[in-house]
Amino acid sequence: MKAQIISIGDELLIGKTLNTNAAFIGNLLTENQINVTKISVVGDDEQSIKDAFEYSSKNFDVAIVTGGLGPTHDDITMKCIKEFFETELIENEKILENIKSIFARRGREVTDINKEQALVPKCSEPIPNIMGTAPGSWIEKDGWIFISMPGVPSEMEMMFSKYVLPKLIERRGEVADITKSKTFSTTGIPESTLFEKLGDLTTLLNGGKVAFLPNQFGVKVRVNATAATNEEADNKITEIEQRIRTIVGRYIYTCKEETLEEVVARLLTDRGLTIATAESCTGGALANRLTNISGSSIFFNRGVVTYSNGAKVELLRVDEDMIDKHGAVSIEVARQMAEGIRSTSGTDIGIATTGIMGPKSDFSDKPVGLVYIGICDENMVTAKEFRFGENRLLNKDRTSQAALEMLRRCILGIEYDQ
Ligand code: AMP
Ligand code: MG
Repeated sequence: MKAQIISIGDELLIGKTLNTNAAFIGNLLTENQINVTKISVVGDDEQSIKDAFEYSSKNFDVAIVTGGLGPTHDDITMKCIKEFFETELIENEKILENIKSIFARRGREVTDINKEQALVPKCSEPIPNIMGTAPGSWIEKDGWIFISMPGVPSEMEMMFSKYVLPKLIERRGEVADITKSKTFSTTGIPESTLFEKLGDLTTLLNGGKVAFLPNQFGVKVRVNATAATNEEADNKITEIEQRIRTIVGRYIYTCKEETLEEVVARLLTDRGLTIATAESCTGGALANRLTNISGSSIFFNRGVVTYSNGAKVELLRVDEDMIDKHGAVSIEVARQMAEGIRSTSGTDIGIATTGIMGPKSDFSDKPVGLVYIGICDENMVTAKEFRFGENRLLNKDRTSQAALEMLRRCILGIEYDQ
């Protein structure tokens, strides 16, 4: 079953509204073995909308349309449906009752333009909308299924999940092939290095597919495999996973929908370890991420932002001569900051950041993006150098991510290489 999603609305074309409806629908259809092969965005223009319907009817099994069903003049999807399907609009009693009850709950009179929303195409099966006044439509024509829903995400999501998707799954019937996917979140390794390390992808994937999805926190590797049964597809994924883990397992921090701080928080809690942070360049971003986790008071003792040299000396007992000799952004100072916060707070682990976030450098001899992260526990103290970019906020994200990854590897005893 080949599906197209058509999103209607000028606000989507000009970038004022993110097309979250298409993402929501695409995700659920794919999970249910219905292939989305095209997503189109069309403005509030009659001819463009009708052209999109025409194209879809010729090239796809299903069109899922959202938007343009509001009661105002710019919403013209219903008019287009009426003309495209050469049908008439008839009042639907149940829909009118729903509109009246929504207005009664809000203590408001039903206006004429709202009453008009109870007019549905004669050739359609109306899709009820319990959260709003605009109903959806399910129309079938020469084997083509056409579904129209309002643009308001909460209304569309409810209608799609409760009504449209189950019906589509029924119509889809038994699928010949099952596709399963798994996503591995990696960090601390660039996309190109990851790609090179994985080597020959044909052997690695054995018929499966892979996508590399980078962002400032790392690279997600999504693999999928298709087979005749659920079990076979799961087995294929497990085989691919084993091969991937053998090569780059140390960089993978999760294969669930979770952040690195959630993973680190779990590790700290499970092992009964405590931590304190000393931050210069990240300005508290690391402490913020750690304390975003519910229950963080179990492992998080304190975080200090020691931005000036004086604060580093006063609160962390960093050696003033060391700062004079190597500068505040140096491997030596990062190490001393980590040791200082650990000893003043009495935690199991101390971690520290110092760097030049940019876009301008305050230090003539050191480049923007240069960062040192120090970490220590009872047995060791170490610091690593990083070279990030020139965007200040991205650098803060990258530094806090690298610090969390050093923490994860420190707890698990995995060596940190870059
Ligand atoms: P409409 O049904 O066109 O009146 O849309 C109502 C509201 O839904 C718009 O103001 C948008 O904020 C929102 N909306 C419309 N289409 C989308 C979409 N594809 N993704 C997310 N929000 C949307
Ligand atoms: Mg609209």
